[in-house]
Formats: sequence, structure tokens, C-alpha cells
Amino acid sequence: MSELQAFDVIFIGGGPAGYTGAIRAAQLGQKVACVEMEPRLGGTCLRVGCIPSKALLESSDKFLETKNTLKKHGIVVDNVTLDLATMQKRKETIVTQLTGGIAGLFKKNKVTRFLGQGRLDGPGRVIVKAADGVETALAGKHVILATGSVVTPLKGVDLDDNRIGTSTEALAWAEVPEHLVVIGGGVIGLELGSVWLRLGAKVTVLEYMDRILAGTDLEVANAAQKLFKRQGMDFRLGVRVTGAKLDGAEVVVEIADAESIRCSHVLLAVGRKPNTSGLALETCGITPDARGQIPVDGHFQTTAAGVYAVGDVIHGPMLAHKAEEDAVACIEQIVKGYGHVDYNLVPGVVYTEPEIATVGKSEEDLKKAGIAYRKGSFPFAANGRAIALGHTDGFVKILADAQTDRVLGCAILGPRAGDLIAEVAAAMAYGASSEDIARTCHAHPTLAEAVKEAALAVDGRAVNI
Ligand code: FAD
Ligand code: NAD
Repeated sequence: MSELQAFDVIFIGGGPAGYTGAIRAAQLGQKVACVEMEPRLGGTCLRVGCIPSKALLESSDKFLETKNTLKKHGIVVDNVTLDLATMQKRKETIVTQLTGGIAGLFKKNKVTRFLGQGRLDGPGRVIVKAADGVETALAGKHVILATGSVVTPLKGVDLDDNRIGTSTEALAWAEVPEHLVVIGGGVIGLELGSVWLRLGAKVTVLEYMDRILAGTDLEVANAAQKLFKRQGMDFRLGVRVTGAKLDGAEVVVEIADAESIRCSHVLLAVGRKPNTSGLALETCGITPDARGQIPVDGHFQTTAAGVYAVGDVIHGPMLAHKAEEDAVACIEQIVKGYGHVDYNLVPGVVYTEPEIATVGKSEEDLKKAGIAYRKGSFPFAANGRAIALGHTDGFVKILADAQTDRVLGCAILGPRAGDLIAEVAAAMAYGASSEDIARTCHAHPTLAEAVKEAALAVDGRAVNI
């Protein structure tokens, strides 16, 4: 083993949590190392998650638009055909650009990158094992675990790294599945199911619960499901998948108390679990909880002094922006003595057509907590910009405290919902009332006017409906 190299801060994991935290720590004058076992930095998000999925969502949307809707604009394109290889190549180029960008940011900020698998070796010590087996020992005043998450397997589903795949395979298929069965009606199932549906696959979503998108505002989830059905996505709710196996050229998906389904491809998307394998947590006396998460206190400190954890590997939603917020707050707490994440204000976005975006409390949350609220809704069908865009499905819903009018939550189903929700999240961060949003001048004609109208609707005074 080589001579011990010393750092102020060592991140294990170079995903959104690890790379963002490493850069913030360097900005604050720390000597920083980041250990990542994959050659490309950026984690699940940049390599096999957020970015490649959004690239394919965009391309598949363009394909469908060219085929079906451009003619409504008076643009006639004959013989629209799919060149999937080029579509996949474009996705790869985007991933290469962005992962390479992080390597550049590390250089600029003087973050030292170690390529290999990191593990704890008692408090303040990390061993990096390279692919060739060579080990390097590091010493860190602060060691931050940012090892992310991995796919949750399902008993009986025999993943073959190809036709019975996870999101990683479903992002890379070289041909359009004839019939794709998606196990799990959550975010991954709906996003990647949408990609392949648009490109011509028959898509059947099998969901255990009696609804899709568990945890998302029910009115919005139900309205979204109707739209996805209209697009051709087939749903079977309340079914428990018990297995999936290759059978020659087909896949057989077994369902409890129901007939099995034969299809060409399967996407397993029943959730992700924290990734703590190989970290040697026991050398620091750290034990994951029942959900496999690393327990931390309000300052991201684990049960071991000087060892912290952030991102998907701890509590909270498994989202890239939440992972980044965790890491920045953790570093700022260490260096400056304060740092905070308001988990109530972490927006959630599903990048389907239309998009779904939420922040704060849902109606179900408020009812459960016994909080009296007023609700204002406004449909995109009455928004001039949405009509001009030809994307009029969906609505904005704002929930405000019945007594104080403070905004408690917002759910949007509609065009660019993921961008629109930022206004409401910022307003909520400043403790805004629905009246504050309603009295803010919004440019015309914009989709954002639907947010203003929903805020006006809380007080029963929307104008354009
Ligand atoms: P990760 O991104 O998982 O990074 C952890 C890194 O640690 C990995 O690079 C891994 O190789 C490395 N690592 C693990 N163990 C070790 C070790 N022992 N030594 C060295 N390195 C190690 N979130 C969104 O907010 N928006 C989206 O649109 C979105 N889309 C998604 C689409 C898909 C298909 C998937 C799978 C996920 C998506 N997510 C999305 C979730 C998002 O990717 C994660 O929440 C986010 O990547 C978590 O960041 P992280 O840094 O905690 O972990
Ligand atoms: P998920 O938790 O969103 O959905 C999984 C679904 O599978 C649930 O609805 C669950 O009821 C269902 N399920 C579980 N067991 C089943 C069974 N045996 N048969 C049928 N259905 C079953 O998980 P996911 O879609 O795998 O996504 C994983 C994580 O990745 C999520 O936490 C999400 O936050 C993150 N992600 C985020 C985005 C985004 O922000 N746009 C995109 C993709 C992934």
C-alpha cells in the first residue's frame, strides 16, 4: 500500500451528492478528495439516470410530434422513420459531455479524484481499491459517504441484463420492444414506459397498488393516468408480480392469482435501495437501519465521529437535487457551522407528457394532518400560451392555509410543470401567501400565468375561467 495521503474532506461516491459537495468544500478552502469507482463521474444521475432518461424522453417526444402533431401546424413531413441508433448515440454524447464536465470542474476546483472502490478503515481512514487490486490509503478529517442507491430486486424476476432489465438496460435497448411489460407504476416505469410507447412499443404497466405514483397528489396522479391511457399505455393496478423468466424469444411474467403475460421485454422498476455494500461500515461501528439507510442526525453526522452521509444513501426522497442540497448543507455545517435542508420544499417532477410536478403538502397530507385549507385550480385549457403550444392537458392546483392563506402545497400536471413549480417553491421558501403569488405580475402570454390564476382561484377570483 502506498503512503497515507491526507485531506480535510473525503467523499466516497462521485454522484450529485459527492461531486457537488466536493466542489462546495473546495470553494470553502478545504483540501478535498472524491473517490468514485466508475471511470465517469456524475453517479447514477448523469450516467444511467436523470440525464440519459431525459435525453430519450426529449427525442421520443420529437419523434411522436413529427409523426402526429406537426401537421396541425401546417407542417407536412412524409415518411417519418426512426433511427434508434442515432437517438441512442445522441444520448451517449450528452452523457459524455456532462460527465466530462464534472472532471473539468474537479480540475478547476482542485478536487483530487481517486478511481476505485472506497471503503472505511476505521474513523478518519479510507482505502481505495483500484480495478487492478492496488490499494491507496487516505486520511480525512471528515469522511462523507455518498454512495447512492441501487435497483431493488424482485424475487422471481430473473434479470438477464438485457430483455429482463432495469432502468439501465431500458435506457440502452438497441431495438424497440414489441411488447414491454413494466413492473412498477412509479416514476421510472412511467418515464421509460413513455419513451418506448412513443417509439412504437406496446406498453403494459403492472402496479401493486390501486393507483400509480404512490405519494403524489391523488387527483393529479389519477388525471395523469387517464392521459397516459389515452396515449396508449395499458395499466393493470392491484396486481402483484411474482416472477419473470425468459422463454425462448419471449418473456413470461407471472402474476399472483392471475394469468401470466407473455411479452418481449420487461423493465423492473419497483424502487431503489441505499447502496452500502463494500463500505466496511462496521469498522466505524455504523449500522444501516431497517430500510438499509445510513442513520444520520440533523447535521448528516453518522453514529461515528467525523463520518457523515448524504444523498440517496440516507433518509428522504431519492432525487438528485435533494442529494446536492444534503451535501452542500453537510459541508457548510462542517466548515461554517450552519447548513440546512427544508425537506418540505424539495420539488418532485415526473418528466412524462404532460409533466407532473409537486412541492410541499398534497391534499391527502393536509387531510391526514387535520389542517384546514383552501384550494385553487386552473386548467391549462384556459391558458393562452398552452393553447398556442397545443399542450392544454392538465391544471395547476395551489393549496393554502384556510386561516393564514400561507401556501402549503402545489401540484401541477401540464406542459413544463417541472419548470413552473420553481416559482411556487421559491414563494413557499419565503413564506408566501396565495395572495402574494396572485398579486405578482406574470408575463403574458406564459404558462406561468396558470400559476397566478390558480393562486387567484384560492380566493375564488380567477379571471380567465
Ligand atoms: P448516485 O448518483 O447513485 O452516486 C453514487 C456514486 O457512488 C455512484 O457513481 C457509484 O458508482 C459510487 N459508489 C458507490 N459505492 C462506491 C464505493 N464504495 N467507492 C467508490 N464509489 C462508489 N432524480 C432526479 O432528481 N431527477 C430525475 O429526473 C431522475 N431521473 C432518474 C432516472 C433514473 C433511470 C434513475 C435510476 C434515477 C433517477 N433519479 C432522478 C434519481 C437520481 O439519479 C438519484 O437520486 C441521484 O443520482 C442520487 O445521487 P447520489 O449522489 O446520492 O447517488
Ligand atoms: P418508485 O418507488 O417510484 O415506484 C415503484 C413502484 O413499484 C411503486 O408504485 C410500487 O407500489 C410498485 N411495486 C413494488 N413492488 C411491486 C410488485 N411486486 N409488482 C408490481 N408493482 C410493484 O420507484 P422507481 O420508479 O423504481 O424509482 C426509484 C427512485 O428513482 C425513486 O425514488 C425516484 O425518486 C427516483 N427517480 C426519480 C425520477 C425523477 O425525479 N423524475 C425519475 C426516475 C427515478
